[in-house]
Amino acid sequence: MTHHPASASKKVGLFSTPWPLYNRPSIQLGTLKAYLKNQFPLLTIETHHFYLKIAEAIGYEQYQAISKKSWVAETIYAAALFPERSEKIKKLFCRLTSNNNVIRNIDFDNLTSIVKKVSDDIIGGIDWKQFRLAGFSVCLCQLTSTLYFIRKIKTLCPDLVMIAGGSSFSGLSSPDVFRHFPEINMIIAGEGELPLSRLVSHLSACPEDEVSPSIPGVVTSGSLESRHLSGFCQLETLNDLPAPDYNDYFHLLDTFAPDKKFFPTIPVEISRGCWWRRKGKKSGHSGCAFCNLNLQWEGYRSKKPSVVADEIDALTRKHRTLSVSIVDNVLPLKQTHDIFSKISALNKDLSLFCETRATTSRHSLATLKKAGVRSIQIGIEALSTRLLKKLNKGTTAIQNLEVMKHCEELGIMNYANLILYFPGSDELDVSETLSCMEFALPFRPMKAVRFQLGLGSPVIQNAGAFGIKAVYNHPNYSVLFPEKICRSVRFLNQAYRGDRGRQKKLWKPVKEKVAAWKKIYDAVHSGSAHTPVLSHRDGRDFLIITHRQVNGGPVTHRLAGTSRQVYLYCRQHRPVENIVSHFPGLGQDRLIPFLKMMVDKKLMFEENKKYLSLSISMNPTP
Ligand code: SF4
Repeated sequence: MTHHPASASKKVGLFSTPWPLYNRPSIQLGTLKAYLKNQFPLLTIETHHFYLKIAEAIGYEQYQAISKKSWVAETIYAAALFPERSEKIKKLFCRLTSNNNVIRNIDFDNLTSIVKKVSDDIIGGIDWKQFRLAGFSVCLCQLTSTLYFIRKIKTLCPDLVMIAGGSSFSGLSSPDVFRHFPEINMIIAGEGELPLSRLVSHLSACPEDEVSPSIPGVVTSGSLESRHLSGFCQLETLNDLPAPDYNDYFHLLDTFAPDKKFFPTIPVEISRGCWWRRKGKKSGHSGCAFCNLNLQWEGYRSKKPSVVADEIDALTRKHRTLSVSIVDNVLPLKQTHDIFSKISALNKDLSLFCETRATTSRHSLATLKKAGVRSIQIGIEALSTRLLKKLNKGTTAIQNLEVMKHCEELGIMNYANLILYFPGSDELDVSETLSCMEFALPFRPMKAVRFQLGLGSPVIQNAGAFGIKAVYNHPNYSVLFPEKICRSVRFLNQAYRGDRGRQKKLWKPVKEKVAAWKKIYDAVHSGSAHTPVLSHRDGRDFLIITHRQVNGGPVTHRLAGTSRQVYLYCRQHRPVENIVSHFPGLGQDRLIPFLKMMVDKKLMFEENKKYLSLSISMNPTP
């Protein structure tokens, strides 16, 4: 690691504007600050969480409701940026919030003017001349707010070097962005550590240098014009990264009135990228067909288990909080067990959140649970194996049901999405989904989400293969931005011409069934006895299965002897030939009718001659 003892008289400022979740510091800012501090011990690096200030000003409930809806969030600063468009933008806001109880009655003009005033006060309260450069981390829902802050700050301090980077800006490096937003001097393509530290070094050595330096990963309008682009410039390993520095966020929170204080969630990063998204031999792309989450990285890197555990230990000790959100898109395949065993050994009652793939074994899930994982987002996405193939998830419906069951049994809240309207999906995908849903009803309902076409996703790159005829910016951008910007800049959310109308009709019954699923699940779980929908208790040589109903008493089944053993053996899905060889005395002629009967009663699921028992144990082994 390079080390630069050079002192620098001016500070580096790193900024995060609304609307990230307010109750956690920015991991992008925290990680960059810690890294730069290591590199330049004499340099002052400040991080400013403007979004927390805005959340405090407008109230946490309102802020949270807005931050959960990315289009809604983008409307507010868009109206401040382009006041001449505010009527159109207001209409979009009203349309997008009409069914949201918290924000539907908000007066848009009033909200915008409060947010604008607080933002302007924040900007006016900072001496911008003290900074050598201002770096903005731009992720989900931060596009218009960042542009607003950068524009305003630049009018106050025209010489300040303005840099934008982050997942929402990685794909926007085009001459048109610099033309429409001349306040932005540079864009960081990819992760920020190396490009930023080289830039700081350069500006320290040549403070008066106005010529844009040629630094890998730093894009300027000049480098775009001369096509002098160097691609990503990223760390080889994450193991040497110091723990994120969240002090500025906590200091800001400390200044709030007692009724505005809360215990934040600490974001932690185990890995960058996605191991499922490797370069394919044929198409040149792999990973899930809809995904554009990893455009800012190349390859997959993960920290050593001991580094992760030490970081969680240190951060929770320092900030006296026990909620930790792991920000990875996907956990490392081989190290998951080791990482979470080490977290478990910290002996802290942590509350952890993470995202992972549906192929995670029960054993790993149990380790996650023991470490403190209470909620999880599993990449299930579909309940039809045909459709899962089109999505290139590398999973099957039976695997998805199995992981949903394990979460239910282990008491991990699984927040999974069910993608509707995927281009090129057909009647068979829908009918497979509907019939599989019958078997998924005992488990936590999935959230129905519309397919979103993301810039850089494999679907865009092979649009024709998905029946897509034309791709263009999502129409909401043409409300938020003036036409000339919309026409020349390609934004992250795209729309398409193809089979959208057909898809809407096709998926209507699934949408309705998801709503019914939620109703049933909530009804069965209401009241003080929080018993599962489908469960079993083991009597050692017999098994009682209880299926709770919304209306009427539970339906019970008793399995004895080998039937019990077969049912328990299929706690994880098993091919029929494995069941046969495991129970040699049983014979196919007795086994198959039994399995068929269990499937008919929806106590087991069958796919491609593989069987999975669906009830969860009331006394699960860890
Ligand atoms: S959806 Fe998740 S698993 Fe799939 S490519 Fe994206 S990050 Fe990887």
